[in-house]
Amino acid sequence: MSAATPPEYRSGFAALIGRPNVGKSTLLNALVGHKLSIVTPRPQTTRHRILGVLTGAHAQIAFVDTPGLHEQARRALNKAMNRTATAALEGADLTVLVVEAGRWTHEDDLVLRRVRQAQRPVIAAVNKIDRLRPRERLLPYLAQLAARYEFTAIVPVSALKADNTKDLAATIAAQLPRSPPLFPAGELTDRGLPFRIAETIREKLTLELNQEVPYGIAVEVERLAEEEGQLVVDAAVWVDREGQKPIVIGARGARLKRVGRTARLALNELIGRRVHLTLWVKVRENWADNARALRELGLE
Ligand code: GDP
Ligand code: MG
Repeated sequence: MSAATPPEYRSGFAALIGRPNVGKSTLLNALVGHKLSIVTPRPQTTRHRILGVLTGAHAQIAFVDTPGLHEQARRALNKAMNRTATAALEGADLTVLVVEAGRWTHEDDLVLRRVRQAQRPVIAAVNKIDRLRPRERLLPYLAQLAARYEFTAIVPVSALKADNTKDLAATIAAQLPRSPPLFPAGELTDRGLPFRIAETIREKLTLELNQEVPYGIAVEVERLAEEEGQLVVDAAVWVDREGQKPIVIGARGARLKRVGRTARLALNELIGRRVHLTLWVKVRENWADNARALRELGLE
């Protein structure tokens, strides 16, 4: 592509920044048109920097999904998540501040302070407009938002319904530097299969566990092998206390079986072929407070 790249082509990094649960990951997936980042109703689902590349005829946007910036960064894991988000913010050409239509919280203030410090152009994406009631609340909300900061643009969207996300992408593209594409056409993300498998399993676990094992789960693919026409996946589910093991496994293993089934179906779809999945629940005491464990799990 690069040989024929028009001189007015634009390319660069856009960091999706916001407090937990505003819909950053849903937005990344909607913008790129692929499920790259896991989504659950629970805050702090995203723990890593997730790259999603959208390549068009006139521009290529490398979106960076980030963990939600949040206040109670007590555990090592939470500190690492805030660092990951801040690093993405500082490494990008522009910031997409994601907020929730009709709501502005103390944590949004905290995020805006960080965003201001990064001194990048900021586009505000006002998400979840589909559920704002009554709808007349949108205009005053946009006006209040405009008064908070000199945004380059404010774009209302629904990530869930992929409503107005093309407009958002065009607005972002217009702000990127002139440059040939930074990634080869067809490249969607920089994460390999083991990571995407582990994340898919973690999504299904998180959905199944609700609030019962708060933030204490990590997933690690331990074996990935080709056997008799199937992809064999062995994955460890790390809990941070012995007492959580029976919760994850469930009565007679029913819960783990359910997670295994939904995860396997999602993996079949992700990989486009049959997957044989085995999950092992393992204990690593206080892994979320342990810098070495975080490194081993790719969280630092
Ligand atoms: P993140 O923590 O900012 O990455 O947020 P997620 O993308 O994980 O989404 C958090 C929750 O908000 C999930 O239950 C999503 O389905 C939901 N959500 C995200 N975007 C929208 C939206 O545009 N409309 C509605 N109604 N829900 C949304
Ligand atoms: Mg997320």
